[in-house]
Amino acid sequence: MHVPNAPRLSIAALGLALLAGCGGASEPDTPPRVNVASCPATVIPLTQPEIDEASFMREEETLARDVYLDLAEHWTAQAGQVPVVTIMSNISQAEQEHMDSMKAVLDCYGLPDPMAAGETRGVFINTELAQLYTDLIARGQTSQGEALHVGALIEEVDIEDLVTSIAISQQDYTDQVYENLMCGSRNHLRAFAGEIIKTEGRYTAQWLDQAEVDAIVNSPSERCGR
Ligand code: MN
Ligand code: MN
Repeated sequence: MHVPNAPRLSIAALGLALLAGCGGASEPDTPPRVNVASCPATVIPLTQPEIDEASFMREEETLARDVYLDLAEHWTAQAGQVPVVTIMSNISQAEQEHMDSMKAVLDCYGLPDPMAAGETRGVFINTELAQLYTDLIARGQTSQGEALHVGALIEEVDIEDLVTSIAISQQDYTDQVYENLMCGSRNHLRAFAGEIIKTEGRYTAQWLDQAEVDAIVNSPSERCGR
């Protein structure tokens, strides 16, 4: 049962865990997506749980963008154009597209934007996301390997949360937006885990079941939104 403004289960649990302890890259040459979901001509209002979910995912996509931009800047300053910088810079562009997709959903239904402050980096209405941002940045600055693990963790959590989003969603348009975001998250998880495997030999799942993560990581990248 969804309670408005209640902390999301996975994000809340992730915060506790931390206390204890299309296209991945943007592809400038790719033609515009043809099947990308758009606001229906006749708008049927969302239910309150759908509204809460859309608002939450707008902020969660922002969290991903902000963490990747901040860690890319940090590791550029520390080490130059190392792989984690390239990966995070590229994926941050996809997260901006995901943020834009969620803004389009909010606009479609005439809903307020939780990022009304102007998408300012590191600023969140949701207190769980604000704390998570702080924790993930701190962890990701400890080493390049930890930064890659932070990226993979964000994508695992995002996939789980988007499963919830799709379960709550009752409209084709929002279903398609969430499916597209999840497709992107699978590609991003492939990118982060793939880089970790290069250096460490394996990637151990941090949030989802290992079998689910393995199935994603061992399958080819997808074309999202087509
Ligand atoms: Mn995303
Ligand atoms: Mn992502």
